[in-house]
Amino acid sequence: MTAGRTEQMSEWQELRSALRVHGPSPCQESAVPDAWFEAKGVLLAEARRGCDDCPVQPECLAYALAADEEGLWGGLTRPERTRLVAAA
Ligand code: SF4
Repeated sequence: MTAGRTEQMSEWQELRSALRVHGPSPCQESAVPDAWFEAKGVLLAEARRGCDDCPVQPECLAYALAADEEGLWGGLTRPERTRLVAAA
């Protein structure tokens, strides 16, 4: 297992644990779950507000940074996360 894969698995476990503590997240309870994956404009803005209010946002963003997921995770889109990593 590579260091990156180990980090990814660790972050995933953190996210899963946080979800067990806090219950379903806004993206899991949304009537429009695609908003977290293909949305732009108003729908994306609404999904971001869900992330802003999400109790597991830090764990979610950490996981997505390690895993390079598609879509909006932890309040950031994939291109935004890529820029964040590049700037670090
Ligand atoms: S922070 Fe993550 S778990 Fe929470 S609503 Fe956003 S994408 Fe879903």
